[in-house]
Amino acid sequence: MNDVQHLRSALAGRAFGPHDDGYESLRRPWNLSIDQQPALVVMAESTADVQAAVRVAAGAGLPLAVQSSGHGAVHPCDGGIVVNVSRMTDLQVDPGAQLARLGAGQRWRSVLEATDPYGLIGLSGTAHGVGVVGYTLGGGLGITMRTFGFAADSLLGADLVTADGELVRADDAQNPDLFWALKGGGGNFGVVTSIDLRLYPVPQVVNGMMAYPGARAAEVVSAWAQWTQHVPDDVTSIVMLVTIPSVPEVPEPMRGQHLVMVLATVVGADTAALDQLRSQLGAPLIDTFAPSGYLRAAMSGMEPEDPSTSAGRSALLTSLSEPTIAQLTAAGGPNSPISALEIRHLGGAAARAPRDSSAIPHRDAPYLVAMHAAPADEAQAATTVDLMDEALAGIADDTRVGMFLNFLHHGSTTDEVRAAYDPATYTRLTEVKRDYDPGNLFRYNHNIPPAT
Ligand SMILES: Cc1cc2nc3c(=O)[nH]c(=O)nc-3n(C[C@H](O)[C@H](O)[C@H](O)COP(=O)(O)OP(=O)(O)OC[C@H]3O[C@@H](n4cnc5c(N)ncnc54)[C@H](O)[C@@H]3O)c2cc1C
Repeated sequence: MNDVQHLRSALAGRAFGPHDDGYESLRRPWNLSIDQQPALVVMAESTADVQAAVRVAAGAGLPLAVQSSGHGAVHPCDGGIVVNVSRMTDLQVDPGAQLARLGAGQRWRSVLEATDPYGLIGLSGTAHGVGVVGYTLGGGLGITMRTFGFAADSLLGADLVTADGELVRADDAQNPDLFWALKGGGGNFGVVTSIDLRLYPVPQVVNGMMAYPGARAAEVVSAWAQWTQHVPDDVTSIVMLVTIPSVPEVPEPMRGQHLVMVLATVVGADTAALDQLRSQLGAPLIDTFAPSGYLRAAMSGMEPEDPSTSAGRSALLTSLSEPTIAQLTAAGGPNSPISALEIRHLGGAAARAPRDSSAIPHRDAPYLVAMHAAPADEAQAATTVDLMDEALAGIADDTRVGMFLNFLHHGSTTDEVRAAYDPATYTRLTEVKRDYDPGNLFRYNHNIPPAT
């Protein structure tokens, strides 16, 4: 019996090889640009399944990748084992303690549905289909991040299977270095089987977007940038240039239009900041701002839900000067292959957590720009990425080195991952990696090699 056959027989969950029905859909992550041909996809049902897969991969020297929703797949795991944790969906909400304990396969939608009846929220991002664990390990920039900080700041503990197949607890009391690294260091240290997350009481938000014609992009981005200088921490916002697809699912007034939008979530009911921006810019073409519960707001994001190809580039901004605004609005202009160009306003509570409380770098960056596309093929992906790189080169005076893992593009090199962090944080991450994964078994990710 070879190693892969041996693993199949040791599992409670099912495993799919190239000759099995179901393999074709399971081998593909949500990000369809990662076209991988693993030897086996293990649909893990339990920690024991994860341990079996890790031990076999480590023992046989096989590549091993971890996948939950597949939104953040980074490198194709050809010929190896994909440990798919999407069926590990245990979920317990403790409303009194304002905590959730959730399995590695949980996505934001179901977690928020479970916390909503208690008036509690988790710190989700712009897409409810994203996996909670992968999102949190990569920092977790949420739609209320200026009020409550990064999602990783609300991570209270994790259980994970490390490279030797052992189940380890990481929290403030047990393996604190590992716990520190998990908060921003991504999937480099093991397969996380469950996490404990802090929840927040939020009875109401005001959420939505106001859209203006794309022809006014530079003016709207400039006004938004000024506005962000003095909005309170209960306002988290994004300005976005987007060409709306011309498809029947999109309401008529938006179909095919090139728009500039301000998307925002206000924690509470105070609309004064939104009113001020609206009165400065004049009546929007579309204005969806309304009070609601958080769940409804989190479900009404503009992100694609179906699996998609992806090409992207992003950068941290130190400021938003007029020349930078001109460059970015040109890059995201009508007929651009960049289907969405967003600038996120950071800061607030996200900037206030102590620097050494986590491996999240660059808390003081005020803005992040991210460009997204769904290219039809590799040639289009290459030309689109060239265009994105050109746009970033053109705004170099307003950018700084660094990134959050969740916004690093797929296919990232070791040098690009190193550059995402400040040197001290990166060095410490490589040392934790050496302690828990000296052979770099977990490398199909934004990889941090072990210190030598
Ligand atoms: C449409 C879209 C919208 C997004 N919006 C936001 C946003 O608003 N804010 C934000 O911060 N990010 C956002 N992201 C980025 C997203 O958070 C990352 O891609 C994240 O890695 C996705 O995690 P996942 O588990 O869903 O994806 P997966 O592809 O399943 O996992 C991604 C990586 O995370 C690691 N990982 C996942 N689960 C585990 C586990 N159990 N144990 C160990 N490692 C694990 C692995 O390294 C894996 O390669 C968005 C991405 C997309 C595609």
